[in-house]
Amino acid sequence: MGSSAAIERDLARADSILARLARDSRRAGNITHVEHVPSRPGRTGPWPDWADEVLVGRLRTAGIDEPWTHQAQTAQAAHEGRDVVLATGTASGKSVGYLLPVLSRLLAEPGARAVYLAPTKALAHDQLRSVRSLRLTGVRASTYDGDTPGSEREWVRAHANFVLTNPDMLHRGILPAHRRWSSFLRGLRFVIIDECHGYRGVFGAHVALVLRRLRRVCARYGARPVFVLASATVADPGMSASRLTGVDVEVVDTDSSPRGPVDFALYEPPLIRGAVQAGGAGSVGLAGGAGLAGGAGLAGGAELAGGENGAPVRRAATAESADLLADLVTEGVRTLVFVRSRRAAEVVAAAARRALEEAAPELSGRVAAYRAGYLAEERRDLENRLRTGELLGVAATSALELGVDISGLDATVIAGFPGTLASLWQQAGRAGRAGQGALAVLVARDDPLDTYLVHHPEAVFGRPVEASVFDPDNPYVLMPHLECAASELPLTEEDLELFGPGARGAVDDLVRRGRLRRRPTGWFWTQRHRPDVDIRGTGGPPVRIVEVGTGRLLGTVDAGTSHSTVHQGAVYLHQGVTFLVTELDLDDAVAFVEAAQPDWTTVAREHTDIRVVESTRSARFADLEIHLGTVEVTNQVVGFQRRRLATGEILGQEPLDLPPRQLRTRAVWYTVTDELLAAANVEPAEVPGAVHAAEHAAIGLLPLFATCDRWDIGGVSTDLHPDTGRTSVFVYDGHAGGAGFAERGFLRVAEWLSATRDAVAACECPAGCPSCVQSPKCGNGNEPLAKAAAVRLLDSVLAAMDGDRGQVLDPPRK
Ligand SMILES: [Zn+2]
Ligand SMILES: [Zn+2]
Repeated sequence: MGSSAAIERDLARADSILARLARDSRRAGNITHVEHVPSRPGRTGPWPDWADEVLVGRLRTAGIDEPWTHQAQTAQAAHEGRDVVLATGTASGKSVGYLLPVLSRLLAEPGARAVYLAPTKALAHDQLRSVRSLRLTGVRASTYDGDTPGSEREWVRAHANFVLTNPDMLHRGILPAHRRWSSFLRGLRFVIIDECHGYRGVFGAHVALVLRRLRRVCARYGARPVFVLASATVADPGMSASRLTGVDVEVVDTDSSPRGPVDFALYEPPLIRGAVQAGGAGSVGLAGGAGLAGGAGLAGGAELAGGENGAPVRRAATAESADLLADLVTEGVRTLVFVRSRRAAEVVAAAARRALEEAAPELSGRVAAYRAGYLAEERRDLENRLRTGELLGVAATSALELGVDISGLDATVIAGFPGTLASLWQQAGRAGRAGQGALAVLVARDDPLDTYLVHHPEAVFGRPVEASVFDPDNPYVLMPHLECAASELPLTEEDLELFGPGARGAVDDLVRRGRLRRRPTGWFWTQRHRPDVDIRGTGGPPVRIVEVGTGRLLGTVDAGTSHSTVHQGAVYLHQGVTFLVTELDLDDAVAFVEAAQPDWTTVAREHTDIRVVESTRSARFADLEIHLGTVEVTNQVVGFQRRRLATGEILGQEPLDLPPRQLRTRAVWYTVTDELLAAANVEPAEVPGAVHAAEHAAIGLLPLFATCDRWDIGGVSTDLHPDTGRTSVFVYDGHAGGAGFAERGFLRVAEWLSATRDAVAACECPAGCPSCVQSPKCGNGNEPLAKAAAVRLLDSVLAAMDGDRGQVLDPPRK
């Protein structure tokens, strides 16, 4: 834990690095805020008397004299059979909280079994290594995933008492074969769900239903496992955990592990005019695209170097982070940079090495990239070199992919908000050891949410506002899982309760469609084959990208985004190489491409119409209404523009002949009267631009309140909507049936629109740019947009809501 003198010395070091960064003339004014996160002393409690003595001995040898209080509380609850979620920070030792009760039980009861679920294979393998390092002969731990050879699977089913797997394998491998797993399931005492905040959106809904299927099958074998969940710090972890498992879950969220002080800086790169991005990571194509989730395959507009319509852009977060990395490494500061794509990891590491070759050539070999796709040995090697200090700087794609024991570094630089506060803290938490000062820097991307956060430190450092959002009642998700369940074991009346209020209607529907048959003993699956459900899918088979000539498969894109990203004539980027789409074959779901080096990029033009099916909840004020309900969205990609890469200049426009597509989903919308618009001083001619700008910014800010990505949601705005009869702004869930995001927007509407207003007002650009009201996925070429009028409109909307910006319309339901 270190003496206070050491703490002060180390804090002073972090301070001086920051002070130097701030003095640097290039960076003057870029640091918008520095938060001193104070150190926290640790609090421990005694080992519980039921804990296995050998296990406790091994944990002591590993340096754990006594458990932290939160570990002991979690362990006690689980031991007593209470479902529990432990929601504390990175490196707070969450694994001891669940391993203590689970391993003690496996050691005490020969027939007892436990399952550990991780969102990634890498994490499960890491856990396996740490469990094996405890050398407990009574614990037969094994992973069970797509990589497990057939010959080993039999052994795992018959002999392992601790199986580390993932929800996909539970869904595809274990539940359909439950008879072969019957003795394992009969003994199942615990289900550990690690990183449970990652189960969100449509995927979260799928996992919630997989877990209900697991509970049902276990019950058939007479088992009722205890759920132990581990989560990052999120708003309302108990609600999310209960929704995920379907049972009431107790919460332990007071972190009692010690923490060194951290200086956390918020950093906004300067605005530059459009055109070519300068600086360390300055490949033109990367500038806009690197920060985007998912990397290649996103809308072509994201690859533009300049803002649309001549708008200024900010220097790329990746370029700025590469410079920071080089500077920190020069100071001897061990630094991790987090980026959002594999390519960005390579580019940032390369740019930092280049910068070091000039400034400190002896250090340039001590910087590397670390990303998914490397072999396990390569990754272990990089981790070791980072741990020993041989490597001073690493650019990595995600905190989750790093080995569990990579922490205690001097600094982390986060190139762009990683999407959720939970991930932000997970990444920042890799820096800092007990009793030692550390530095974290969030570098804003050209995006309204990043803009908002670097100007609103309270949103980063206050209580978390975002909750893990997903909706297990979505009929489009529920129905296929009812089919799976019925194919595993016939569904009974009591089962329907387990699957929620929509299950009865869904089952009746499946009977009508001949998928299920009702018999006196329950509902039976009628088909020969098993139901086919992709729990990570987003609707429809993905479109394959195939190179003409070689027939090489380059990758896939979602069916949902294929029309706008791989239409005929589109520029498609794959791992830094540019291709042109020669043909999009919708019947076979394949896009043919050939390598090319055009000096333009492409931007799809779309028409989107929205029809109100029904409003299910609403709030009405004078001159303002807010609704949550079901809508039907019709979207058609009608053409595309070619734009010069360096300047954004429009080179030409071509029509496309693609069919319209329909999506029935959930939306939140507000409507305003002409009186409100007049009072807000929004001229009639400005209305379309004002609502369009307000819609873009609202989409950008919703992820602060619901764990979604801006690519998961869409919007429509109009000065007169036929269904509402008024000026209206809609924001809808981009997946059939909805994922819960629109609901969250409705529940937190005042805070959401208030943040939206502030993000637009905070941006210093003259008339709108990607940091405020321009959207990289606008189907209308970001026209028209009226930034100032949008702020006035939002001010009036907020005033109309009784001026109560903190208002919550209703508590979320479980
Ligand atoms: Zn702006
Ligand atoms: Zn738009």
